[in-house]
Amino acid sequence: MDLNLDQSDGVEILRWLALSESTVKIILISGFDLKILNSAVLLCQSQKLDVVAALHKPIDPAHLKSILKSIHDECKTISRESLDLAIKKNEFVLFYQPKISLVTGKMIGVEALIRWHVAGKSLVDPDAFISIAEESGLIVPISFWVNHEAIKQCAALHANGWPITMSINISAKLLTNLELPDELLAIAQQYHLKPEHICIEVTESAAVENVTSSMDILMRLRIKGFNISIDDFGTGFSTLIELQRMPCNELKIDKSFITQLHKDTPEFIIVKSIINLGHEFGLTMVAEGVETQVVLEILKEIACDSAQGFYLGYPMEKDDLEKWLRLNVDESLNFKFPSAL
Ligand code: C2E
Ligand code: CA
Ligand code: CA
Repeated sequence: MDLNLDQSDGVEILRWLALSESTVKIILISGFDLKILNSAVLLCQSQKLDVVAALHKPIDPAHLKSILKSIHDECKTISRESLDLAIKKNEFVLFYQPKISLVTGKMIGVEALIRWHVAGKSLVDPDAFISIAEESGLIVPISFWVNHEAIKQCAALHANGWPITMSINISAKLLTNLELPDELLAIAQQYHLKPEHICIEVTESAAVENVTSSMDILMRLRIKGFNISIDDFGTGFSTLIELQRMPCNELKIDKSFITQLHKDTPEFIIVKSIINLGHEFGLTMVAEGVETQVVLEILKEIACDSAQGFYLGYPMEKDDLEKWLRLNVDESLNFKFPSAL
């Protein structure tokens, strides 16, 4: 959709789509400057519209074609039935991405990221199926599997001499299940792992969506000793009051602010201010999406506590993670930064 149409403007149509709770996939196209295009994307996201791409004119037809093809492939393969079958056939795998302290230079832990290994095909990323799992309710059995698998793997890492933490993503849909804290504690106890080694990641928008139930659940998780991280921070438009009330101990700044981080840009001022603000609230600040040495140095300079991203380590399957640990981390958990190699 072009933002500037003949009879009406695109923003009006977006408003109408949001009001009708449309689930169509939207590709925004505009000749206006990038700032307007970015604002339109944020407007769509805040209204829960599914923007798959934002293209600046003149657009490259080959690029547009590849986007349309990936939407087509996704729609063709993923249905409720196929996900249901994937659960029965045990086709999900967890990948683990390292998280490093910029203060001590040590390995802190890993984040568990789900993938779907469709038989005979390549891996499907979670962005392609988590929303379908949420809408169909299949997120409940999928999360049950993720929680068990991630906690079991964390216990195995501890047993092998790697006392690191495991971060687990929890869907907004599960923040209404008041049993969640007891369920997670039972799994931790089953694998003899202390809750302090587990960090529950909830997105900023999920945390403020059903404030009453999410506060209840997050508070009880904290009381039981779990860590709570607010994920994708900066994208959810929560207010400072809401943030200050959240019983979390970590804020994870969204990768959209980090990947292209340069000094003298609005993103730099935003990230620096978020870090200062988080520290004022006594929170640990994490940056995700660190892809370069330059970004890592900027983050150290502005006192970001820890970092995650392709520059430090890609998400890996459990066997590859153990190999990676042996190569990149010593027995005191000191991490060999790529620049030092
Ligand atoms: P997220 O929690 O924000 O996870 C970070 C995503 O950024 C991951 O994508 C990761 O592979 C990617 N990433 C990591 N480092 C970099 C980097 O340096 N640059 C860039 N451009 N990207 C980087 P992934 O694995 O595709 O996961 C996408 C989202 O799916 C996650 O976003 C999370 O919201 C959701 N998700 C993943 N696993 C689970 C799960 O087990 N349960 C639930 N409910 N959601 C999950
Ligand atoms: Ca996450
Ligand atoms: Ca994130």
